[in-house]
Amino acid sequence: AIHVQDLHKKFGALHVLKGVSLSARDGDVVAIIGGSGSGKSTLLRCINCLENPTSGVIRVNGEEIRLKPDGNGSTLPADRKQIERVRSRLGMVFQSFNLWTHMTLIENVIEVPVHVLGVKREMAIIEAEKLLARVGLLEKRHVYPAFLSGGQQQRGAIARALAVQPRVMLFDEPTSSLDPELIGEVLGVIGDLAREGRTMILVTHEMKFAREVATRVVFLHEGRVEEEGSPDAIFGSPKSERLQQFIRRVG
Ligand code: ATP
Ligand code: MG
Repeated sequence: AIHVQDLHKKFGALHVLKGVSLSARDGDVVAIIGGSGSGKSTLLRCINCLENPTSGVIRVNGEEIRLKPDGNGSTLPADRKQIERVRSRLGMVFQSFNLWTHMTLIENVIEVPVHVLGVKREMAIIEAEKLLARVGLLEKRHVYPAFLSGGQQQRGAIARALAVQPRVMLFDEPTSSLDPELIGEVLGVIGDLAREGRTMILVTHEMKFAREVATRVVFLHEGRVEEEGSPDAIFGSPKSERLQQFIRRVG
């Protein structure tokens, strides 16, 4: 589960997140939608401790991320070990550049389990093969990322994220750098995970997909949660003018 409360993030004078609160309970599939620059990636990056919030509270699986003042009005992690622990239970898939290019696919998938989590190599390989089979890439396991299509790379990135047995998956526009004909195969894998009841927060521009798999949709506008609700409420009867405009524009 993820709980975010009154999260603020400034980059210098730029106030990007202006008091965002959001929660994903176990089994929730939360889709985050919103225009470019509204703060979607920054929000995910704060949850994953890739950015330090200016203020606010973030709890990951019941554990509050401990922050200390950085002396410039923002924060720093108070406990590096905690950050590592929290991150090891999150699976993150970005828009692109997910796989390490100097490793084969299966080496990518076993890297963190073996070198960070201390899983025995043989065990990690058995698990990795199961995961790669699940995303339809078993026969590609000894191939380097450069020889995979964009869709295959993203499916590989999902397998790699799953290899840490994350309690929550974070996706940041996992299909937006793909050619249209490759989007479906990646959404298929994510949809399967959603239907399995995996907890996830998914930033996406794929409105039809969000409506189909999300249990809740959050619309961010200029760093604030402008509206949130069930997919049917958000897409079927949006209340806010800005959300209506957004849906007309992208939907
Ligand atoms: P998109 O849909 O285009 O991915 P987004 O909603 O993910 O947009 P963010 O990437 O969170 O938007 O960016 C929000 C704002 O914060 C933008 O104005 C961006 O320029 C700014 N920003 C993001 N990261 C940084 C950074 N490291 N330093 C300075 N400004 C940043
Ligand atoms: Mg983004």
